[in-house]
Amino acid sequence: MQDMMNDLIKKMDLSIRMLLHTDKKYLAFYLSYQKQKLERIIAGRPYVLCSYYFPSELTSMFDTEFLYIERIVGLAVSSNIMKGKERPIFTNDICSYHNAFVDLIENNIIPKPQFIMALSYPCHDAKMLCEYLHSRYNIPLYIISGQNYERELKKGFHILKERYSLCQNINETVEFSNQAVTLKKEIDRYRLKYPGIMKSDEMLKIFTLENDFGSREAVDMLKLVLKTIKDKTLQHSYPDSLRILWMGLIPLYDNSILSHIEKCFPCTFVYEEMWMFGHYFLTEDNFFENLSSKIRTSLFYHTRDRIERLLTVVKETKAELIINFSQRNCSFLPPKIKEIEAAFAKEGLVLKNLDADVVRGGFERETLVEAIRDFGVKRKNYDNNAFR
Ligand code: SF4
Repeated sequence: MQDMMNDLIKKMDLSIRMLLHTDKKYLAFYLSYQKQKLERIIAGRPYVLCSYYFPSELTSMFDTEFLYIERIVGLAVSSNIMKGKERPIFTNDICSYHNAFVDLIENNIIPKPQFIMALSYPCHDAKMLCEYLHSRYNIPLYIISGQNYERELKKGFHILKERYSLCQNINETVEFSNQAVTLKKEIDRYRLKYPGIMKSDEMLKIFTLENDFGSREAVDMLKLVLKTIKDKTLQHSYPDSLRILWMGLIPLYDNSILSHIEKCFPCTFVYEEMWMFGHYFLTEDNFFENLSSKIRTSLFYHTRDRIERLLTVVKETKAELIINFSQRNCSFLPPKIKEIEAAFAKEGLVLKNLDADVVRGGFERETLVEAIRDFGVKRKNYDNNAFR
């Protein structure tokens, strides 16, 4: 099964080489440091498995590898190495990200983690996965329940410190994290001013960069993204196209779907928000308190905050149609959609809901095409031939 991981590395290597000759050098950079991390893990370097909300500022400080579940599953599925492999191990209705991760472990495609750090929030399924790995393979696990984030995060830091040496102090970590936030704010300013300047599906390919905030790599990467945007503004024009706000995920197995649709139909996608953690700055003196507050004020923690942000993006980008794409069996975001839909309806906005399994496959492009064509023909008076 090591062959499958070598296959993934080879595919990543090929993509990096191709991307270096395009205006997507930031993607090449992103893939390249993910590839180096995987190479070190395959070579035997121990790693800590983390669920999505475990603060990357803490993982940036220790001299070992950290692997986030969604990121490795995203890389494996989008590189097509798992085709036909994934099978349910818990129940059929758990989010397939976690079944896919277990599959990577149980087929020895990646080595087992040395330690596991999990947050109960936001995703109960991730906690179930971590508990399963803990009991099946006797891997030590630390769960942050959210009863007192500050105290639990501090304890998590000390647990890691007993096992691994520090490679970066709090001061440096705060500096890198704040630099990343500043760059992210600037990127947002440009992308709202120039809707569609960055392809939404390309930005969604790097959404797990959020799990690197606190590291030098995230800062270097965001500098490259910002430079790319600034270069693009020099030739940016505003086509008379239907603006569509895209909420949620994209199918990992068809992760250029939005660019494809844009080529065929006069529409421009604008992604909702690149990361859950909005514009939160850290301080050295209140580091753990700030990390705790960063989770509690993150964009998706209170649906009202997300709605306000969505309405701002709609207003600034003049989006006319909103499409929400949910992961099937996700226990986190789909239950909140009704509240969002009601808030949009009050503003006279149309929200179309689509769902699919973004890991296992099965979503047909035609379903998305139909949703857009239907709206575009009715509201923009496009004739059916506008779709090529
Ligand atoms: S899609 Fe939902 S259930 Fe699945 S990992 Fe993400 S938050 Fe958790």
